[in-house]
Amino acid sequence: MKLIIRVLFIFISTNIFAQQNKVCITVDDLPTVPYSFRDKEHQLEITQKLIDVFTKNNIPAIGYVNEGKLYPNGKLDQSKVELLKLWLENGLELGNHTFSHLNYHKVTFEEFTEDISKGEKIIKELAKSHNTEVRYFRHPYLRSGLDNDHTDSLKKFLAKNNYIEAPVTIDNEDYLFAKAYSRAYKKKDTELMNRIGKNYIDYMEEKLIFYEKMSNNLYGRNIAQTLLVHASLLNAHFMDELVEMFHQHNYEFVSQEAVLTDPAYQEKVTKFGDWGISWLDRWALSKGKKGDFFKGDPATPEFILEINK
Ligand SMILES: [Zn+2]
Repeated sequence: MKLIIRVLFIFISTNIFAQQNKVCITVDDLPTVPYSFRDKEHQLEITQKLIDVFTKNNIPAIGYVNEGKLYPNGKLDQSKVELLKLWLENGLELGNHTFSHLNYHKVTFEEFTEDISKGEKIIKELAKSHNTEVRYFRHPYLRSGLDNDHTDSLKKFLAKNNYIEAPVTIDNEDYLFAKAYSRAYKKKDTELMNRIGKNYIDYMEEKLIFYEKMSNNLYGRNIAQTLLVHASLLNAHFMDELVEMFHQHNYEFVSQEAVLTDPAYQEKVTKFGDWGISWLDRWALSKGKKGDFFKGDPATPEFILEINK
């Protein structure tokens, strides 16, 4: 009997432990962030590779679209629409990231909200034909309002238009690594590509640990995290390793809908600034945290900045 109880205890406790950490992977700037690779083959490679890793690992990732990218030279490019269809066909969700990736802090409320409405035309149709909906909105540059009123008026607009805001907790500079990677790729420098990739995964692991720690210090637990990455060649080539890193840290992958059920996401932000920081930073600032509380944020390695010069 004792043994059964003991086995049962181990079974329950390991299961609880295994499910302890949750993360939602959100991919911004769809269909792709091409840097200098604007040809159809690279666009498809980026999309297909990301989707392959997500489906293989049962990851309910979400992609945030800038519909403006579907109109290179002002004309609708059907091949780019096909890339978005691939996401939906594989059961992945799409969200709105505005038409032209506007910064809410730099344009008028009218300009910004018009750009949101303009940015839903095609994805709404696509979602409908795949029996799903466009439900979520991600702020470009994570700029969500300069003060309380500015933030609130956007919140009201989004709610009225059936959008749910999608905060980010694991903010990072993946785009700097991606830019450097595309340069190395262009030069066919595989050694440098691998070095950038390896450093990228290490950096993302440090970021994960940093935000886990911040969450523990703020809430006494690791909240369901939201990772922001971009639809770049770097992420296409290294998503497998990124996913493996999260597995090693006992993460399970959850949907946008599921991650937002964590009560932390209901936390009110009361401190504002012209910043695009993690919502964990915003909640901490709103709770009066200062200085040392934010210490230790991992920096992007110098050699990445060098390559991008
Ligand atoms: Zn973006």
